[in-house]
Amino acid sequence: MDYNVIIIRFGELSTKGKNKKDFITRLARSIRHHLVEYKDELEIDVRHDHIYINLKEKNMDLVEILKNIQGMYSFSLALKVDADIDNILNTCLEQIQLEEGKTFKVHARRIDKSYPYISDDINRMVASKLLKNTSLKVDVHNPDILLSIEIRDDGAYIFTQTIKGIGGYPEGSIGRCLMMLSGGIDSPVASYLLIKRGVELSFIHFASPPYTNSGVINKLEDILNILSDYQAKINLYIIPFTKIQEKIYDVSYPGYQVTIMRRMMYRIASEFAKRKHIYSLANGESIGQVASQTLESMYVINKVTNFPIIRPLATYDKVEVIKIAKEINTYDISIRPFEDCCTIFPVLNPKTAPKESECLAIEELADFDSLIEEALSSYEHRIIKK
Ligand code: ATP
Ligand code: MG
Repeated sequence: MDYNVIIIRFGELSTKGKNKKDFITRLARSIRHHLVEYKDELEIDVRHDHIYINLKEKNMDLVEILKNIQGMYSFSLALKVDADIDNILNTCLEQIQLEEGKTFKVHARRIDKSYPYISDDINRMVASKLLKNTSLKVDVHNPDILLSIEIRDDGAYIFTQTIKGIGGYPEGSIGRCLMMLSGGIDSPVASYLLIKRGVELSFIHFASPPYTNSGVINKLEDILNILSDYQAKINLYIIPFTKIQEKIYDVSYPGYQVTIMRRMMYRIASEFAKRKHIYSLANGESIGQVASQTLESMYVINKVTNFPIIRPLATYDKVEVIKIAKEINTYDISIRPFEDCCTIFPVLNPKTAPKESECLAIEELADFDSLIEEALSSYEHRIIKK
């Protein structure tokens, strides 16, 4: 059926009590942002229980955009008409006739309590109008068409189509986090899961030119371009990691290179985050996936920071991760061949249970503090925007 307004429901937000207002404001801002190119063709009306998008022209197709906006539980494509009862009956008939041969159920809600007919009256009147004038049949349990009518103080909203949104919390409403982004499959999926929960991400990448080529950065930008469907503006910080990496391979005992490298990444990421006033880190680690992701390894690596490290994929297996990566279209980008700092410096026997004392001893063998400071002060910043 035709529609001239989109009704947006918050779902999860309703349970957030006093934060609700802030969440709705953020959701509205996010909707405005995602629909910016249509701004002259619609009007966004924010109320305490719903957000309405009033369309200047009927049937504008915004469904695919709205489906990706976090914090939106569901939305309905509705036809708003004058709430005069004859008008409602005629509109229902006009719209629903098009669906000849199907079964239906009417579900009216009288939200404006001053309306002269109660919900049951409206249900009955609409149903009999349709039964009299069409070959449609009623099926109250499993109708083909659920015809909803909401009577509000500014009119009647009639709709048959309700679409599930992505859910979660509105963009950025939970706080900020610094995501460690490699070119692999896991970190983009971890990013998506976090953004969807309302966390605003900035991204840090450790680059090791000339061992890694600029193809990696293109790859990251392509991935972030996809993620910008879910977070409108994205900061990517590229940290030069070559010298540190070379130094690690210079001084490390066999088997400890990866542990030390990850400790350096965590150190740099924490310090960098702090300078940007961000107080948590995230990555694509999954328990047991590789030697550096055993619980013993995580313990020793994690000791260099007191930041919370969010690992959205901690319990995911690779098959599940790949499934999501394919759904959000990052998979094909992630599997493009490239050299990353982990493949370029092969480690024959990475320790699955490294000792902290050994790490500290190795880290005494070079002036890593200066190297870290140097890396922190010579980063490159890119902004990815939809
Ligand atoms: P992914 O885990 O994303 O598939 P990967 O398998 O190459 O990539 P791992 O070695 O499993 O990466 O590293 C675990 C996590 O550490 C990654 O998910 C990512 O968050 C982070 N990480 C690894 N390499 C880098 C890097 N060069 N720059 C930033 N973060 C990185
Ligand atoms: Mg991985």
